[in-house]
Amino acid sequence: MIVVSEISELKKIVSNWKQKKEIIGFCPTMGTLHAGHMDLVKVSKEKTTKTIVSIFINPTQFNDPKDFETYPKNTETDLKLCEENGVDLVFLPSVGVMYPKSETPIQMSIPSLQSTLCGRTRPGHFEGVLQIVSKLFHLTEANFGFFGLKDYQQYRIIKALTDELNFPIQIVGVPTKREADGLAMSSRNLRLSLKDRETATLIPRMFQLAKKTILSGERNLSVWREILTDFLLTGMNVKIDYLEVVDPFTLQPLSELRGDVLLATAVFVGDVRLIDNEIITCP
Ligand code: AMP
Repeated sequence: MIVVSEISELKKIVSNWKQKKEIIGFCPTMGTLHAGHMDLVKVSKEKTTKTIVSIFINPTQFNDPKDFETYPKNTETDLKLCEENGVDLVFLPSVGVMYPKSETPIQMSIPSLQSTLCGRTRPGHFEGVLQIVSKLFHLTEANFGFFGLKDYQQYRIIKALTDELNFPIQIVGVPTKREADGLAMSSRNLRLSLKDRETATLIPRMFQLAKKTILSGERNLSVWREILTDFLLTGMNVKIDYLEVVDPFTLQPLSELRGDVLLATAVFVGDVRLIDNEIITCP
């Protein structure tokens, strides 16, 4: 496995691969890798001949400086996991490498897809995501980009970016990998205390309750949301950032429970912010 930190080194290897007609798969991450990230790698290895993982905690996508400072780092274990899972190249740049002083800063956004969910409660977050992902797509020249559906809004926004601007890359969404008790795997789970880790299982259980309530015939969206909100708030130390029901394509709020709906939530358990979502089909 090759590990590089400089753009020039990355470009040299990518250019060599391109000459050899390799198909490049790219999985952008912020490190502290777990089995969820490795699912992206697995799908990439099935679809491509070379897999690149980037590990970069991107400062421009953190609207809360404390969240950026406390974001976990585990480079040594990350590299081991990548090696074990057959990653071909890890790109591990510093902030200075990705953001040399720019004379003309660019701000990117897709307003309609950013007006709800995390875009609404984390202003500036997706601007940072669009910026770093665009740069990394160009540097890796990837044919395929792999994104977890746990971050559904991110997946939708990146898909729209590449479709609308004709980026020569195909975006693939990978299903959410969960712990045995249903909690979506996340690097942030490491920051939960033992007690808060237990409380966090309210999130996957809330999705179970959501489906059960729909199956039992509930069709009133406000009543449904209230039942689910009350359930989450039974937890100690729980604060709901949002619990929204939106159209899975436009990400706009829905006024009725019909067809496929995206139920998405962001919840603070203690000071750790966890997100999860599910597309639920209302019969
Ligand atoms: P992150 O390191 O949290 O920025 O995530 C990097 C990529 O891994 C993103 O595309 C995430 O959606 C994806 N990812 C993170 N957690 C999971 C999970 N539990 N299941 C599937 N994909 C995930």
